[in-house]
Amino acid sequence: MLRYISTRGAAQSLGFADTALAGLASDGGLYVPEACPQLPASEIDNMANQQYLEIAWRVILPFVSDDIPSEDLVKLLRRAYKGFETPEIAPLHRLEDNLYVQELFHGPTLAFKDVALQFLGQVFDLLLEKRKSRVTIVGATSGDTGSAAIEAFRGKDNADIFILHPKGRVSEVQRRQMTTVIEPNVFNIAIEGSFDDCQDIVKAMFNDARFREEMRLSAVNSINWARILAQVVYYIYAGARIRDKTGGPVSFCVPTGNFGNVYAGYVAKSMGLEVEKLLVASNRNDILHRFFTTGRMQAMAVEPSLSPSMDIQISSNFERLLFDLYGRDGGMVAKTMKHFRSAGPFELEEPVMKQLREIFASGRVDDARTGEIIAHTYKKYDYLVDPHTAVGLGVAQDYLAQNPEATVVSLATAHPAKFPAAVEKSVGHAPELPAHLADLMTQQEKYTVLPADLAKVQDFVRQGARK
Ligand SMILES: *Cc1c(COP(=O)(O)O)cnc(C)c1O
Repeated sequence: MLRYISTRGAAQSLGFADTALAGLASDGGLYVPEACPQLPASEIDNMANQQYLEIAWRVILPFVSDDIPSEDLVKLLRRAYKGFETPEIAPLHRLEDNLYVQELFHGPTLAFKDVALQFLGQVFDLLLEKRKSRVTIVGATSGDTGSAAIEAFRGKDNADIFILHPKGRVSEVQRRQMTTVIEPNVFNIAIEGSFDDCQDIVKAMFNDARFREEMRLSAVNSINWARILAQVVYYIYAGARIRDKTGGPVSFCVPTGNFGNVYAGYVAKSMGLEVEKLLVASNRNDILHRFFTTGRMQAMAVEPSLSPSMDIQISSNFERLLFDLYGRDGGMVAKTMKHFRSAGPFELEEPVMKQLREIFASGRVDDARTGEIIAHTYKKYDYLVDPHTAVGLGVAQDYLAQNPEATVVSLATAHPAKFPAAVEKSVGHAPELPAHLADLMTQQEKYTVLPADLAKVQDFVRQGARK
């Protein structure tokens, strides 16, 4: 039996199903597996010729098998990824012999969050069906998460989903991807306020124990273990294929916000994939780059950038890595995180940083250079990238300049058409939306405008949700 334990050491350990449905642990920590299942090197070598879904089944099964039997997992994965535009799911695109882009944007909402949320949607469906239970999902979004979550839960019998976005402060493509979904279990709320107001209201709903119980509230944010798990798969998919070509190890470059994606790369490495370096790429909001450089984790005000999905100052999934760095001492993690949230910066000692730098390196790309990279990549390779992907490519190229013998897979986290303004400014024309979204800009929208007022939002959720 694989159990999941909290990074803060005080919550009860749980099996996979309870971990996935709970999201956050009751002590405020994040769940991680008690021991990481291993993949033998020979098996990873064989994966160079296997299809994505086959690899996904093999990677995920040992983490879930107590709650999702093998045959159910096969069917679940097929359903989760059938809406992807290519059967490769996460294809590799070669730019140079030592630089590849892995395209993670072929899902329904054109961002890599679909890889995780389509899986999570199916996991919830299966587990809730077994338990004859239902949930009300609430979340706040500044862009990509909301639409990916809505796509994953639209039309589901056992879940209603309420997504709050700051009115007038998400891009038109992002808003329409949410508001044109008209299934009766989907509720979009435009809050008259900022993203922080949206997030505060969601937090307050979870902190209201009676409301949480009454509505069976559930969260699907990036700290959910099942999301991380789905993301481990594409690292192993790419790593096996690159190794097959070059015979050597691979490095990954990851445009990072909440540290969820790059943490999944760390799990792939922990399972046995040979990874040389995980490169953490930041935009101007470079708390992680400053941390990897100085050993000091210090939040600053968030500034808007061309890559808004990385405009974050506190990377919640970093706590999972910290747990390992502290020798899995939950008490130490709890103390550090409480201090960080209330009093401010913390520092890691040099031996710990040295251990960290064996695995991770980091870099920062500002808006001006992001635009240059979009233009340069188009000119040199005839390949359009979105601003998040461009930040990753910049850091990947800097790393290759220092380490010419390395091979880097740089993750493309969004389709260029999702951020048309930034792309058009750099290359002179806007990218086209893929066929399945061609009529996005003319479809009917459905959403409700509410003030940034907890009681009003709670009333709306109570009235809308099926019990
Ligand atoms: C969410 C997001 C990121 C950041 O991913 P994390 O897992 O939070 O590090 C990067 N790029 C895009 C396009 C995203 O939507």
